[in-house]
Amino acid sequence: MAEFPEVFVFNEDDEAAAAEELARVLRDMGVEAPFLLSSIHGRQVSAKVAGTGPVETPTGDADQEWAASLGARAREAGADAVVAVGGGRCLDIGKLAAARAGVNVIAVPTQLSHDGICSPVAVVPDADGRPESLGAIAPRAVFMSMVTLFGAPPRSIAAGVGDLLANPLALKDWQLAAGRGLEQLDDRAWDLSAQSYDLIRGRLDEDPATWSKDLDALRNLADALVLSGMAMIASGTSRPASGGEHEISHAIDELFGGRALHGAQVAFGCIITTALYDGDVDGLRATLRRLDLPDEPSKLGLDADELRRVVLAAPNTRPGRFTIIEDANLSDAEVSRLIADIWS
Ligand SMILES: [Zn+2]
Repeated sequence: MAEFPEVFVFNEDDEAAAAEELARVLRDMGVEAPFLLSSIHGRQVSAKVAGTGPVETPTGDADQEWAASLGARAREAGADAVVAVGGGRCLDIGKLAAARAGVNVIAVPTQLSHDGICSPVAVVPDADGRPESLGAIAPRAVFMSMVTLFGAPPRSIAAGVGDLLANPLALKDWQLAAGRGLEQLDDRAWDLSAQSYDLIRGRLDEDPATWSKDLDALRNLADALVLSGMAMIASGTSRPASGGEHEISHAIDELFGGRALHGAQVAFGCIITTALYDGDVDGLRATLRRLDLPDEPSKLGLDADELRRVVLAAPNTRPGRFTIIEDANLSDAEVSRLIADIWS
């Protein structure tokens, strides 16, 4: 059976105490030679780990090659774990580096911008700077310091929520594929993904700026993102949290190099698949506007023709994955009509 990460939540309003607690958790896990990858933002919570071994800071343009070289350095240093402290990109690079070094990764998020916090998937740019979704290892443990997460930028909170908006649609896509005999559903993974969305659905009318200053809401989002990652670990694929809406986001990455945070692009992708499912597109768009997520192509700098290319390219971003987009099998003209129908 798939192994879930151990999850530690530190609730005290004291970052120095959180740093002590993180060091203690690592010691208790038997980590003796941590290789620390910490963003600037993560310096305080990682302060007590920093003293014990090498520290690296990911640069803004850190890509897959950088992650691989980091893994090589971790191995040379004799590290027994990579401790990644930072935003989504930092954690993803830590996951790739740890896989390369053959050691565990411990994730310490400083932002809640996507459900990669505890998933086996890493989104890291390729040599051309295009974000690519890769299979990596899931963290052995996740340490969440609520005081560190408190006050994270509202746009990263909104992106975290945006990534979770995908879950119910991804489950529909999964069911669609299962109905065609292409895949098998996994009850536990299904339930985890559904529970994850249930944790945030009651808060979708809240403003991300309020959310970022409400400890309960943040805790909800953190738990939801962890459950979503666990759903992926349980099924062994990203299926329960990634369907056609993620294909749209991947296509934006491939064709245009990424136009917004992963979760924001995914939320936008939900509009397309909701329309294909004949769902409540206007309601979804209103939710996205409230969350300050892109509800129209222009907010991602895309015109109708560019979006048409995105939708047409979406199926090729995940060959073998059957979603409502593959099911619809739209022609060029049908995609144009779909776009015109949604944004007329
Ligand atoms: Zn995602």
